[in-house]
Amino acid sequence: MAGFDWFWKALGGKSSRNQKRSLAIVDQAESHFSDLEALDNAALAARARALAEGGEISDQAEFLAILGIAAQRTLGLKPFAVQSQAVLRLIEGDVVHMATGEGKTLVGAMAATGLGLMGKTVHSITVNDYLAVRDAEWMRPLVEFFGLSVASISEKMTPTQRREAYKASIVYGPVNEIGFDVLRDQLITRREDAVQHGADVAIIDEADSVLVDEALVPLVLAGNQPGHAPRGKITDVVRTLKENEDYTVDDDRRNVFLTDKGAAKLETQLGISSLYDDEHVGSTLIQVNLALHAQALLLRDIHYIVREGKVMLIDASRGRVADLQRWPDGLQAAVEAKEGLAVSEGGKILDTITLQALIGRYPMACGMTGTAVEATDQLRTFYDLHVSVIERNHPLQRFDEADRIYATMAEKNRAIIEEITQLHSTGQPVLVGTHDVAESEELAAALRERDIEVSVLNAKNDAQEARIIAEAGDIGRVTVSTQMAGRGTDIRLGGADEADYDEVVKLGGLAVIGTARHRSARLDNQLRGRAGRQGDPGLSLFFVSLEDDVVVAGGSGESVSAQPDAQGLIDSNRIRDWVAHCQRVTEGQLLEIHSQSWKYNKLLADQRVIIDERRDRILDSNLAWEELRERAGERAAELAVLDPEVLEQAAREIMLYHLDFNWSEHLALMDDVRESIHLRAIARETPLDEYHRIAVREFKELAQRAVDDAVSTFKTITIDKDGAHLDESGLARPSATWTYMVSDNPLAGTGNSVIRGIGNIFR
Ligand code: ADP
Repeated sequence: MAGFDWFWKALGGKSSRNQKRSLAIVDQAESHFSDLEALDNAALAARARALAEGGEISDQAEFLAILGIAAQRTLGLKPFAVQSQAVLRLIEGDVVHMATGEGKTLVGAMAATGLGLMGKTVHSITVNDYLAVRDAEWMRPLVEFFGLSVASISEKMTPTQRREAYKASIVYGPVNEIGFDVLRDQLITRREDAVQHGADVAIIDEADSVLVDEALVPLVLAGNQPGHAPRGKITDVVRTLKENEDYTVDDDRRNVFLTDKGAAKLETQLGISSLYDDEHVGSTLIQVNLALHAQALLLRDIHYIVREGKVMLIDASRGRVADLQRWPDGLQAAVEAKEGLAVSEGGKILDTITLQALIGRYPMACGMTGTAVEATDQLRTFYDLHVSVIERNHPLQRFDEADRIYATMAEKNRAIIEEITQLHSTGQPVLVGTHDVAESEELAAALRERDIEVSVLNAKNDAQEARIIAEAGDIGRVTVSTQMAGRGTDIRLGGADEADYDEVVKLGGLAVIGTARHRSARLDNQLRGRAGRQGDPGLSLFFVSLEDDVVVAGGSGESVSAQPDAQGLIDSNRIRDWVAHCQRVTEGQLLEIHSQSWKYNKLLADQRVIIDERRDRILDSNLAWEELRERAGERAAELAVLDPEVLEQAAREIMLYHLDFNWSEHLALMDDVRESIHLRAIARETPLDEYHRIAVREFKELAQRAVDDAVSTFKTITIDKDGAHLDESGLARPSATWTYMVSDNPLAGTGNSVIRGIGNIFR
């Protein structure tokens, strides 16, 4: 990163100037308070509207003061100066770095309200349903104070309810629901069927989770058409392959490579001459890739479970069954085949969007998180967003202990149990962050053996999870949780009601224990941030072993010598530096994966925008009819007896059918190309250049084909007073659609892309 120094300095300079200006405005706002407090609610709201007229705020200080008074009158919360400062930075489009417990919900709502007064529509994006509903209801009085409307979106809502909700000026919604609505809206054939119309601004809560950790998760909309099952024979043959003999797995267990011996074995058993022949590269080899990936890298009960005859993915970052998630079709089928289950219908992918592309649709984005600084480079590179650091309202009182490093995993685990037992014996509440469900369960079992009562967070729903985590700060509590569980819920000392607050303070506040460092320091800090809110005392401590995932993956190839004591503890700054080094390496790897995937995704996202523009024109004008009339004048003349509106709609449906169909084919094709691109590109261009070349060529053809196909349909299909009879010609739109998220991180929650992983099975 050293080469970027000049860049960070330039950035820092600009943002600190902005910050100074914001602070000065916050000071001025204070001076407005007493005068404004004399006004009644209606007068305040009117004054705010006047100040924001024309979409620009004429007096920011006064405007901020009014928002503050409204928060106090409606919610009983008088914003701290740091919160007001954050509101300003949000309105100007930054990501604000604010620690846990500093009141980001209020900040987000004040900013949304401010933007709403400026005439903008706002989507307040949350990480789950539960928070969307909670925040919308909590903040409703503030928004309505100014005559603006607020609503929330959740999974169970019908299209009609959604359409109504999206009309509000401020809409709280979980990122995946908003994304699925965007996808579904891209299939409509009448404008009035759309449920949403985008928004001017996205305010993203837990911005680093959405914009970085989950950015590459594709949301998928599929239709009910059968997919391709991998051939049983390949699964059976791959099952006989042995690790380190027929294939090897790299240190971080993300990629698997077939050895020459393994390839030969496969070729013999499948009765083919070479897997790498042109004839097999595009088909057999891809299937072998998938089967091998399913066999060697995806482990039952860690990456997925089998329940009721189905493969269910475990969401690694939350450590529980992820109902909505599937792997990319081929891989899902490969895992099902591996488990000897019925291979589920793949469904035809109609459209997909990554969270990154979803956020890219908003003209303006901003957000808040406790770990923005650590994501500065990603936010800058991928979103052109700046980070503003907001000071804490009360200075941090948490003590972050130096890592305790052990030689082996077994020694580390023993020490973790000792430490928790020790802390618990005093009554101090302990929150333990683990890396997966299996680890949580094992740890909880070991603690229970010592008669320690443990709450394990692998609840089935977010609301239940929130209730458990809210109590994690109570006396004597031990809570074991995976990384993301209960994010967005406040942990108050002495329990949610703070009944035993003083006592827990005396005990040292909440102690947070990390059972291993994550592959990025940012994720470590997300966990640490659970303790020490609003100037509370607290403790954070991470355990590390030289056998940990991050150390092995980040330090591959290099060896260290260390002198552990009898318990296996290594107290050495040199080794601490080494662990930090390993983590920097894994961070670099993650960044590289992100930027690679970003380059692949970007082109398709740009193409999607072009398709969208054309769709919009077809929906909102009679372009389709005009084009078809021009290309098939005779047929148009024949139909002239019909109602012009019926004809326009018929033309629209024909055009859109072929546009959507060809787009979906394009996606499927480019998916295949991506999986095998590094094989095709050997000794020619770089895989990415080759991919781009193919994508551009295919896209041009797509555009042409979509129109040609529409013209030939138009010439032959029955069109009468009821419109175009597409169904009868086998051109029905899928009657049912379903949505899922492609899991991007089945491998230990590190943000790896399965899709990419597959691509790398063979070098
Ligand atoms: P974060 O999302 O930043 O972790 P929350 O928005 O959940 O924090 O708020 C944490 C707690 O702080 C909430 O209980 C909220 O009521 C409280 N809070 C927020 N702002 C204020 C304020 N200005 N004055 C008093 N309490 C506040």
